[in-house]
Amino acid sequence: MRRLFIPGRLADTVTLSGSDAHHLGYTLRARVGERCVVVDAAREVASMEITGFTADTVTLRLVEKLAADTESPIRLTLAVCLLKSDKMDFVVQKAVELGATRIQPLASENCVARYDGKKAEARRERWQRIADEAAKQCGRTALLTVAPVLPFGEWLTAREDEDGAAFFCYEAERENTLGAWLTETSGDAFTALIGPEGGFTPAEAEMAKRTDVAPVTLGPRILRAETAAVAAMAIVQHVKGDLGSE
Ligand code: SAH
Repeated sequence: MRRLFIPGRLADTVTLSGSDAHHLGYTLRARVGERCVVVDAAREVASMEITGFTADTVTLRLVEKLAADTESPIRLTLAVCLLKSDKMDFVVQKAVELGATRIQPLASENCVARYDGKKAEARRERWQRIADEAAKQCGRTALLTVAPVLPFGEWLTAREDEDGAAFFCYEAERENTLGAWLTETSGDAFTALIGPEGGFTPAEAEMAKRTDVAPVTLGPRILRAETAAVAAMAIVQHVKGDLGSE
């Protein structure tokens, strides 16, 4: 069933306009009588029925309130160095399914992908569309935010506290495991930093350590960046969040 995120609050009758209405009426060719799952700004969820269209509005009536939240109890930010196009699309989609709340794309030394301002914004919009679609597919009750691309060093030094305790998956780290780091780290917000296909430079690793981003190993094998991103998010969500946890 289609899932819609509306800016306002649920009510017996909801009228959509603008791009939401156009998307529903024209792109998705929805029809009167069709049911949708509607998630409102307070993450309340309801089954609603389409009752009418005009040139630029869609009206729905509330059928029944549904069980609420599918959001993880933790805030998880994925800071990921720019990967090649299809891999980035994949990582964005998996981050949504794995309950991440924010994606921070980074431009680091070894990134193959490089975008100027305009191209970077076009890519961010593309990733946000992929994230919104993934949220509908997996039944999220909140939308993940894709932040504008930042240079690696700038993000490290200006990192906001609200993104919580941070670690970086470092292919050269042999001692500190992600499991050990999670055991010794409390709180409900975490940031996972993943390097590009070419890995982190030693200088970048040093800079991360100096700004309280802990190096961790995911084990003895060298994973592809997209595999490391999925593995790291899954481990954090399992230990601290709601992925297969008791
Ligand atoms: N080109 C590098 C590997 C980069 S792998 C080399 O051959 O050494 C891409 C990213 O995945 C890394 O920067 C790191 O963030 C992550 N990664 C891959 N394997 C990892 C591991 N075993 N432990 C921690 N991070 C890993």
